[in-house]
Amino acid sequence: MADRWVVLDVGETLIDETRIWSAWADALGIPRLTFLAGLGATLARGGDYRDVFALFGAAEWNQHAPDVEARHGGFQPQDLYPDALRALDGLRAAGYRIAIVANQPAMRHAQLEALGVLAEVMGMSDALGVAKPDPAFFERVLDLTGAEPAQVAYVGDRVDNDVVPAIVAGMRAIWIRRGPWGVIQELLPGTDPALVVDSLDELVERIGEVWPRPD
Ligand SMILES: [Mg+2]
Repeated sequence: MADRWVVLDVGETLIDETRIWSAWADALGIPRLTFLAGLGATLARGGDYRDVFALFGAAEWNQHAPDVEARHGGFQPQDLYPDALRALDGLRAAGYRIAIVANQPAMRHAQLEALGVLAEVMGMSDALGVAKPDPAFFERVLDLTGAEPAQVAYVGDRVDNDVVPAIVAGMRAIWIRRGPWGVIQELLPGTDPALVVDSLDELVERIGEVWPRPD
């Protein structure tokens, strides 16, 4: 049997992004509840998350990025979803190879490792020079793992950035329904992930369904 890879997204898959979105609200001087509700409304309308800044008239939002990073201080242990580390251990124990390849600033790589998030392959989009949902991102996943598409399961919380492009790339898509996108987005007819789960604990329990054994 060829090696099977489970490749994971970071934001809202391994990491709860509540703190960084709260830092954005604080930096812009917007009450957190109002800002986060605006984000949800933006996503529900099918908008890009960056559109939330226009909703609040913050056209020059990018100028606040250094302030946001200072408030955020990088990934902290409390940002890890409680099932993240044990799920990686569980998948490894079940014989799967682990990669983490995601849309993130390059500095998150070392921050994840400092939290004990370990993988055979780790790649952040800013370092790779390519980001989801670009098909080239998923080609890089194959380059980095050396795997055939059918031997890769890509796990992410977004239909548009994770599930659809992973399927187009010939991978098994696993949709984890947590975080704003995971709760708000819906599958269009004809988009069939290999698995839909509510948590990484459920993923570990059900990963065997992704590659059913032939009779
Ligand atoms: Mg994500």
